[in-house]
Amino acid sequence: MLHVVPAFSRIGEENAFAVLAKAAELQRQGRDIINLGIGQPDFKTPPHIVEAAVKALRDGEHGYTAATGILPLREAVAADLDRRFGVQVSPDLVLIVPGGKVTMHMAILMFGEPGVDILYPDPGFPIYRSMIEFTGARPVPIPMREENGFAFSAEETLALMTPQTRLVILNSPANPTGGVTPREEIDKLVAGLARWPDAAILSDEIYGQMTYDNHRHQTLLAYPEIRDRLILLDGWSKTYAMTGWRLGYSVWPKALYENARKLAVNSYSCVNSAAQFAGLAALTGPQDAVHAMVAEFDARRAVVVEGLNRLPGVRSASPKGAFYAFPNIAATGWKAKPLAAALLEDAGVATIGGPDFGVYGEGYIRLSYANSSENIRRALARIGDFLQGRAPPL
Ligand code: PMP
Repeated sequence: MLHVVPAFSRIGEENAFAVLAKAAELQRQGRDIINLGIGQPDFKTPPHIVEAAVKALRDGEHGYTAATGILPLREAVAADLDRRFGVQVSPDLVLIVPGGKVTMHMAILMFGEPGVDILYPDPGFPIYRSMIEFTGARPVPIPMREENGFAFSAEETLALMTPQTRLVILNSPANPTGGVTPREEIDKLVAGLARWPDAAILSDEIYGQMTYDNHRHQTLLAYPEIRDRLILLDGWSKTYAMTGWRLGYSVWPKALYENARKLAVNSYSCVNSAAQFAGLAALTGPQDAVHAMVAEFDARRAVVVEGLNRLPGVRSASPKGAFYAFPNIAATGWKAKPLAAALLEDAGVATIGGPDFGVYGEGYIRLSYANSSENIRRALARIGDFLQGRAPPL
């Protein structure tokens, strides 16, 4: 008999990938499926970025790199953070990683163990809780409330902290809600964190360049008083439509950087070399494609929110960031997961049930608007027909 360690009975999943597989299977069977499930831009990676990777391979840049990433790329990340936020970050504290996810994996491994608490947003990216459970730490959900615009409440977050809290995970702009936490609330949160100097902070800012209207992303890097315990998670996946390249970065406090570097050396050695050259071109080249994508997401956002609010029993706040709508479907009479399953099976529209993002996600479904306006309109029409024609199960 094989004796796999019990931690693996606690590790979770990201259901978006299961829905993606199911949608692909239905498509193979000849069904017409509109996929509003997976969170990835439907745009192509801008050509100058692809060309930089091709050139790197042709130039012979196909060996191992430093485990921390090539220096020009770490320097470019530091320059980009200065350009966007006016903050100074040493390239020596930047770690290039294979995707944004890897930073949360490392950070949670570094702080999670039985007997400690880790706070995380709920509804939130499912891997936070999954990895917390894996380490044996106690997952403490921070409720993200619709009435609060799906922003973090400083007061509620701080009230959950105890001397056992070792890590607080923040995410704004947020998946799955599209919430953006305003600067005043982050000011308050950071001020309150002074009372908890033993708690590290992981700020997942992977959607930082995707905000709409007058909502501005406030980076946690802007607070010098927490820099010695702040881990920043960011990357190329969303901003540059590079999800499949597997490229991300983190900024670590000096005291943690070596641990992170050693985790890299003990697992993947270094990030794919050509992908790093692509990432360099992304940061140092023109940013027009980023602005064009965000403008297009903004236009689709209007289509999705307007359409959702016309559906019977559905109410959707306007997302402030990222590319997800998170409508409240409670008044349809459906529970969220059965509704998402029926929409895929019977209406040919892939969405994700809110509970896949945590217990506070019940009553909501997530729709990614990383799809064309035309497909979004067709999907909404199908959802409308479905809701008119089908009574919820008793
Ligand atoms: N954080 C959040 C909040 C995300 O939504 C995602 C991707 N869906 C990630 C991190 C991971 O990004 P990557 O694909 O670069 O690993």
